Amino acid sequence: MTERLHNFIDGDWRASTADHALNVINPASAEVLAEVPLSPAADVHQAVEIAECAFIGWRRTPVVDRVQPLFKLKALLEQHRDDLSLSITNECGKTLAESKGEMQRAIENVETACGMPTMMQGTNCEDIASGIDEHMIRQPLGVVAAITPFNFPGMIPFWFMPYAVAAGNCFLLKPSERVPITSQKVFHLIQQAGFPPGVIQLVNGGRDAVNAILDHPGIRAISFVGSTATARYVYSRAAASGKRAQCQGGAKNPVVVMPDADMEMTTRILADSAFGCAGQRCLAASVAISVGGARPSFTEQIVATATKRKVGYGAAPGIEMGPVISAESKARIEGLIAKGEHEGARVLVDGRSRKISGYEDGYFVLPTVLDDVPPDAETARTEIFGPVLSLMHAQTIEEAIALVNGRSYGNMACIFTTDGANARRFRYEVNAGNVGINVGVAAPMSTFPFSGWGESFFGDLHAQAHHAVEFYTQTKVVVERWPKEWSRKF
Ligand code: NAD
Repeated sequence: MTERLHNFIDGDWRASTADHALNVINPASAEVLAEVPLSPAADVHQAVEIAECAFIGWRRTPVVDRVQPLFKLKALLEQHRDDLSLSITNECGKTLAESKGEMQRAIENVETACGMPTMMQGTNCEDIASGIDEHMIRQPLGVVAAITPFNFPGMIPFWFMPYAVAAGNCFLLKPSERVPITSQKVFHLIQQAGFPPGVIQLVNGGRDAVNAILDHPGIRAISFVGSTATARYVYSRAAASGKRAQCQGGAKNPVVVMPDADMEMTTRILADSAFGCAGQRCLAASVAISVGGARPSFTEQIVATATKRKVGYGAAPGIEMGPVISAESKARIEGLIAKGEHEGARVLVDGRSRKISGYEDGYFVLPTVLDDVPPDAETARTEIFGPVLSLMHAQTIEEAIALVNGRSYGNMACIFTTDGANARRFRYEVNAGNVGINVGVAAPMSTFPFSGWGESFFGDLHAQAHHAVEFYTQTKVVVERWPKEWSRKF
């Protein structure tokens, strides 16, 4: 019988009160791995009530003690990294090497949050007026929640959770209902790490659980990652109920290839960016813009690299790219390729309607390269979220930067060049929050904020590092005077 996943509430595993559940499917084989309950609002309410009680003691726990379970969790994550990585591959489709890289990023966020005793320090100024001192201290918010997407089930919850709890908040996770198994495994480790009951909780579910989180008056802040449409919705509903919100959305990432670029390195890195994780990364290269004389050699080499990529079940040896997440995703991506063709693009490498031997039921789309994609075509504007690279061509860097800045998204933009002046100009002028220079996936390390712009981000403070500390704390300013005559009494 298929296992039904549980919620983790008050330090223990509890069956959801849900009437409905969804199958969790391995996208490489279409095998059913588990059933995920679609928890109703009542399950969320129960978790929040428990978190509100847990917060009373947790915020009074010294910060140096609050980070101790995080040190333990880091060790547990390292110890179980292989098992967690295999779980990511099985429910999400990416290769085992990609899953291990993902877990590494998760662990690094735990490490960074362990620095909370210095990260959440305030500021002060003695004698702001004669005999008067002023201090700014940071205090936790209370109960906070994160709602996460399918494409990084091991990493994205860690953009938020370690910072939130180290800063003294109680944290509730609602993972993607498409990939909930890795979170179950992570929460078994959280259970061993020694956090008091109610400090970190897990509620599985879909829209109903999200809406209950957004509306609950006991939840002070929402961290969201997912598509732009949902990010916009979550941001406005969270704001309407008076919450802080940071909502990371979708992307359409352009990469500029200058004629002076090292073409071998560029195509190798760019292919990893466009086709790695089957293009299901918010930092995937989606549009490549060649400048001037770069066109012929770049086109020839990217086509050769795309054609050679080994596609299959992500845990099989030598596999470089796995399936996309679902049958619906495959159909949507293949539909967008057809639309691109209809809009005037030429299909140089066609990854549609291909079967992988031994995995005939899997949701595979092979690397696809479209050439001469018109800038106003849907393929050029819409997030495809699949292994599809659209080529465009410009004559000058000005023209290329104008194409980059003509998009509504602003998650990432990259340039490949050996010319420092062009690189600097690109970095200075592009409208994107994460910029790569001879780098194909400009993913900020855990010690830097993940800085989406435009339609890729709604809010102010981003995930990770000091932005996370600011997001999960509120400042309190204290102005104090101790007249001399009072101190004489003691
Ligand atoms: P999604 O928007 O479908 O789902 C994200 C979360 O929102 C899930 O937990 C889901 O249960 C919930 N949700 C979905 N629809 C909802 C609705 N109508 N009402 C309430 N809740 C809803 O996103 P996805 O398909 O899981 O993830 C892929 C998307 O995430 C892509 O667009 C990708 O670019 C984006 N993403 C962005 C970043 C970033 O840092 N900007 C990182 C990773 C993924």
